[in-house]
Amino acid sequence: MTLAIDQSIARNDNFAVLVNDDASGQTLSIDAPDAASITQRLEARGWRLDLILVTHHHADHVDGIAELKAAYGAEVLGPTLNAIPGLDRGLGDGDTARFGGLDIEVIATPGHTLDHLSYVMPAANLAFTADTLFAVGCGRVFEGTPAMMWESLQKLAALPDDTTVYCGHEYTADNIRFALTVDPDNADLQARAREVAALVSDGRATLPTTIGLEKRINPFLRAADPAIRARLAMPDATDAEVFAEIRQRKDTFR
Ligand code: ZN
Ligand code: FE
Repeated sequence: MTLAIDQSIARNDNFAVLVNDDASGQTLSIDAPDAASITQRLEARGWRLDLILVTHHHADHVDGIAELKAAYGAEVLGPTLNAIPGLDRGLGDGDTARFGGLDIEVIATPGHTLDHLSYVMPAANLAFTADTLFAVGCGRVFEGTPAMMWESLQKLAALPDDTTVYCGHEYTADNIRFALTVDPDNADLQARAREVAALVSDGRATLPTTIGLEKRINPFLRAADPAIRARLAMPDATDAEVFAEIRQRKDTFR
């Protein structure tokens, strides 16, 4: 089994992520931010599109589905709470799907939206977390509660450290600027800040990341960290309360 992954920027700062399985010749897309850029990447690679895994109902994740489905006949799997264009089969927490010879596991990760799903391919050590977990950040809590989002992030943090993570947006540099305000003495975060600055100045993507790295540097996974708690003056709060405070500070951070 060899998987090839094609990650590109679509719209302004969305990632379009395609996964091709060499053995079966099949290709899947995580979401469909826009049809034109995904079609261009498929053609550049010589791939067809067999499957679209939808993470949540926001327009910047579903706008390309109808056109891609019409062009390629791709099957569309995703959440059912909100209408998803072209949905063929609804998925929920604990469901599995097949892609080539691989199992895809569905993890419900509500908080950003109530319908948000993340997808994991355990045999390939891959996770697709869209707008729940970002590199050094997490999605805004639009529909759920901070406690719900914290629980969702804990599910992702429980994946193996060497899991490669693809996310929905290129927000890493901004996320690091914020992270340094709550976790300024974290040497791993400082080192990642230098790496990301170099990637950005070369015009390169800062993703993918890994679960292990995010557990060391992402403040939204580090609500239990004593240094962060001390900085926020919240030594006795619950992890969910510390998370909520960090999320709220990020919401108003400029
Ligand atoms: Zn979203
Ligand atoms: Fe988004």
